[in-house]
Amino acid sequence: MKPVRKLLCPQCEVGVFCVMNQHGERLPVYVSKEGEIIPKDASSSLDGYDLTEVYCLGCSWHGSPKRLHRH
Ligand SMILES: [Zn+2]
Repeated sequence: MKPVRKLLCPQCEVGVFCVMNQHGERLPVYVSKEGEIIPKDASSSLDGYDLTEVYCLGCSWHGSPKRLHRH
């Protein structure tokens, strides 16, 4: 498995986020530098999760994955 270049939170620069589905369940994810959402656990499915908004696990920031910092 090749390492993924991840985007970081614009506020706290943590690189782990989660996405939420309509039941309020959260799934930990990374966001690649191409803006692609990747489940932290590769066996997890993103089915049913809202991929237009990601929630930072390090602070209260949330928003579009397109707004994340590129390093
Ligand atoms: Zn953050």
